[in-house]
Amino acid sequence: MTTISLKDVVKRYDDDVTAVNGIDIEVNDGEFLVVVGPSGCGKSTTLRMLAGLETISDGAIRFGDDVINGIPPKDRNVAMVFQNYALYPHMTAERNMTFGMNSSGSYTDDEVERAVADAADTLDITDLLDRKPGELSGGERQRVAIGRTLVRDPEILLMDEPLSNLDAKLRVEMRAELAELHAELERTTIYVTHDQTEAMTLGDRVAVMNDGQIQQVDEPQTLYDYPVNRFVAEFVGSPSMNVLPARISEDDGRRFVEGDGFRIRLPRANGNIGSEIDHAQVGIRPEDLTVSEGAGTIDLSVSVTEPLGESLLLRGTVGGNELSVKADPRREVTVGETVSLTADPERLHLFHSDTGAVIYHSSSGAHERPPTPHP
Ligand code: ADP
Repeated sequence: MTTISLKDVVKRYDDDVTAVNGIDIEVNDGEFLVVVGPSGCGKSTTLRMLAGLETISDGAIRFGDDVINGIPPKDRNVAMVFQNYALYPHMTAERNMTFGMNSSGSYTDDEVERAVADAADTLDITDLLDRKPGELSGGERQRVAIGRTLVRDPEILLMDEPLSNLDAKLRVEMRAELAELHAELERTTIYVTHDQTEAMTLGDRVAVMNDGQIQQVDEPQTLYDYPVNRFVAEFVGSPSMNVLPARISEDDGRRFVEGDGFRIRLPRANGNIGSEIDHAQVGIRPEDLTVSEGAGTIDLSVSVTEPLGESLLLRGTVGGNELSVKADPRREVTVGETVSLTADPERLHLFHSDTGAVIYHSSSGAHERPPTPHP
């Protein structure tokens, strides 16, 4: 088991593409860290640098106390699971799992045999060991690919979108199995995905990445409650947080956040913002809005209704800006109607309009730990 540290790590391809632009990440011993971000933000490149499959243009990567920048992949004690499984089609599952181990001279035949039996047992694929990849389902292939990493007993596990080729139901099942596997093995793991649900459900902590940079590294609930900027706020949570142009005003000692079509009174306990902010943006999650019986504080003109079973998703506009609401599913709402909404005043987020950095979160004490500002 080991820690991982990335310090000011940069990856430039040729001279004109900076895929990773100076990232710092510290992963604890035995931790499951998920790196999440949109396609092209530099996640795979980061993982490939950790595995030694890409060189590092600048900065340092450490496993434990050792800088491993120049160490070849085979000497890093790292195993990687790829999105496309990367299995040899003409070899059985067992051969795929052990390929290269016997010839490496590092393992005896007995050790290899025992490692395969253990990994197969852990992953419940003992009956499949004689089959070739073409005779396995997607989920079974993924298990074999994971088995291949386990037999090598690596200190560090790297996973690059390992579930994205599976159908939705299997993805959810395999997600739970990966969580169990990690709890059992306690290997330091870095897992890359573009799927925020996967990130939130699997990660001890989640690093949100955009444009080659880390935006925030935190526990899932902290990311959701205390996003450090608008990017994280909108990336985490589904449907995305609503963000509307807003200003802060003061009226007779009471503070309001207001904009086109809404005026919400702020809770008293928030003394840490200036009383007058003219150009800001307010963030309100769809689940923090409710359709009110009486007069609310936001008027939504409904353009789409989507019954989701556990909620009714309403989409519409407020003063020309789009807004969605997770409403009570048994409420009758028709397209074209204007409904009055109330927002939970303890669940508002205020962002700078120009930089997108958070100004403040109105939540009071949902979490004792404040957000960790990322350098
Ligand atoms: P992600 O995994 O987040 O989708 P990647 O790390 O694969 O992103 O890619 C980050 C950026 O680097 C993208 O703009 C991509 O086009 C670029 N890139 C990745 N690999 C190479 C390469 N071998 N040569 C040039 N550019 C690359």
